[in-house]
Amino acid sequence: MRQRNLRVVLVCLIAAMILLIMGILLLTAARRREERRRQELLSYVGEEQNYGPEEWQKEGAPYIDVELLDPNEYSRPQITLSEVKYIAIHYTANPGATAMNNRDYFNNLANTHEAKVSSHFVVGLEGEVVQCIPTAEISYATNERNVDTVSIECCHPDETGAFLDATYDSVVKLTAWLCTRFSLTEEQVIRHYDVTGKECPKYYVDHPDAWEQMKADIAAQIQEDYVLQENLR
Ligand SMILES: [Zn+2]
Repeated sequence: MRQRNLRVVLVCLIAAMILLIMGILLLTAARRREERRRQELLSYVGEEQNYGPEEWQKEGAPYIDVELLDPNEYSRPQITLSEVKYIAIHYTANPGATAMNNRDYFNNLANTHEAKVSSHFVVGLEGEVVQCIPTAEISYATNERNVDTVSIECCHPDETGAFLDATYDSVVKLTAWLCTRFSLTEEQVIRHYDVTGKECPKYYVDHPDAWEQMKADIAAQIQEDYVLQENLR
C-alpha cells in the first residue's frame, strides 16, 4: 500500500516537473518572439538608436516625419507585412489637403469607422513626408496588393492630379530610397491603376509618358542612393 502511494506521488511529481519545464520553455519562446518583433518595428519607425530620419537622409531619403497612427482596425490593423515586393504610388483625390490633414483623416477613422483606408507615407504639397505606418505592417491602400506593397499617397493642388515640383521630388527620393532598402528596381514601382484599374494617381494614368518619366527619375535616384550608401560604409 505504502509503495503504491509512493509510486503515485512520484508520477505526480514527474508530471508536474514536465509541465513546469514546458511552461518555462513556451514562455521563453514567446518572450523572445515578442522582443524580436519589437526590435523589428523599432528599426522601421526610427526609434532604434543610431538609425532614424537623420540616418535615412544620409542614405538618400527625404526628411521623414514619423507620425504613426494609433493602432486600430480601420487604418492601422498591425498585420505583419513580411515581404515588400512593390511600392505603389497614389494621389489623395483631395485637392489642397496637406500631408498631415491626410494622416489625421486616417487616424480619425478609429473613431468615425467611415472606411478602412490608410497609407504608409503621405507626401505633401511642400514636399514634406509623413510616415503613418511602419513598413513592417500593412496599410489599407492598394487592395489585393496590400499584403506585399508599401504605399505612398501624394497630395496635389487641383483636379488634374499633377504633383507640384516639391511633391514630385520628394516622392521620387522616397521611392528610390525604399527601393534600395527592400532591394527593388523601378519595375517594382507601380500605380494603384496597375492593380485595380482605378484612375490613381490620376495625372500619371492620364499621361503614361509622365509616368514613364517618373520611373526613369526613380531609377536614376536609386543609382545615386547606392553610391551614397556605399560611401557611408
Ligand atoms: Zn490609390
